[in-house]
Amino acid sequence: MASHDVTLLTGDGIGPEIAEATRRCIDATGVTINWHVKEAGLKVFEETGDPLPPDVVDTIRKTKVAIKAPITTPVGKGFRSVNVRLRKELDLYACLRPCKSYAGVNSKFDDIDLVVVRENTEDLYAGIEFKEGEGATHRLIDTIAELTGDSIPQDSGISIKPISIQRSERIVRFAFDYARENGRTKVTAVHKANIMKYSDGLFLEVARMVAKDYPDIEFEDRIVDNMCMQLVQKPQLYDVLVLPNLYGDIVSDLCAGLVGGLGVAPGGNIGRDMAVFEATHGSAPKYAGTNKANPTALILSGVLMLRHIGEREAADKLERAISSVIREKRDVTFDLKEDRNDPTAVGTSEMADAIIRTMEAI
Ligand code: NAD
Repeated sequence: MASHDVTLLTGDGIGPEIAEATRRCIDATGVTINWHVKEAGLKVFEETGDPLPPDVVDTIRKTKVAIKAPITTPVGKGFRSVNVRLRKELDLYACLRPCKSYAGVNSKFDDIDLVVVRENTEDLYAGIEFKEGEGATHRLIDTIAELTGDSIPQDSGISIKPISIQRSERIVRFAFDYARENGRTKVTAVHKANIMKYSDGLFLEVARMVAKDYPDIEFEDRIVDNMCMQLVQKPQLYDVLVLPNLYGDIVSDLCAGLVGGLGVAPGGNIGRDMAVFEATHGSAPKYAGTNKANPTALILSGVLMLRHIGEREAADKLERAISSVIREKRDVTFDLKEDRNDPTAVGTSEMADAIIRTMEAI
């Protein structure tokens, strides 16, 4: 049987505990993984001065696939987000966030199966910013006045929103290819092209053009504010959503909320030939080292990883086992119990044990 090289970034906070639970569940599928275990984050920063040492990135480049546990980003000091750096350095341009209802999870709906595809590299998140009061900002304001006749107040800060044909095309193609490969029937492009004609308008124009190459998949578009309302009222109408970076960030959290929140929201950051899978949630520092955190989102990210490397049968088996344990509501962490203070809640590693036992029985 073929083996796969996969980097495991153990993260910090609750990271190491849920990474271990995830590794055990994936190994129990029977797929042979050569794990390349690496550390990144706060502790590594304190030891080496760099939270993402070059050999970590090199290892991911080599294995081409990674599972990453959450990493803390200190607010206002310390280091830039390791997550953002990884996306940039490895050009992981697509953020994939499936949002699916699992019976047993407390949520507003029980029949949702949506996939959010977010562009990860441009838009207002490109990091091109001009600080209020600086010379460069005043020069930009003057240039804009000269070019457009529009006057921006001199005491403004400015963030730039680039949207390109090439990057819009690759994300929309990613969404259509994903739809095709995963038996999905519709892609909805989300935008605000009525207001931002030259950025979101370009995204929409490119999406319409790409859609012509996929006549087997239905295509439609929605303005982002209307999309948010529709998702809250009738999310069942949607299948695969493709969005520029900012709307993608917001709408993917909205969709995670629809299916019961961060505890069950997996994700993947995917590039041309590399992919890093991670939970949507962060490092939940208050639960670090307590064996209390819910490992489901990272294990579900492992399911995505298995599908990505072509191990679909193992992925389906693992997902069925997770789904069964959640449905039974017995061997689950506190946050998946009806009452968060339920004393019968189990720990992170015990929930992984239950998933493994269930997998062995099916
Ligand atoms: P968070 O997701 O860590 O926590 C939000 C809330 O959900 C908290 O109440 C937390 O205790 C709870 N929670 C999160 N995951 C849980 C789990 N698996 N089981 C049980 N409860 C869980 O978000 P935050 O508090 O805003 O961020 C904490 C740190 O994580 C910050 O430094 C942030 O920058 C970082 N972060 C990292 C990533 C990543 O590595 N991709 C993503 C988001 C946030």
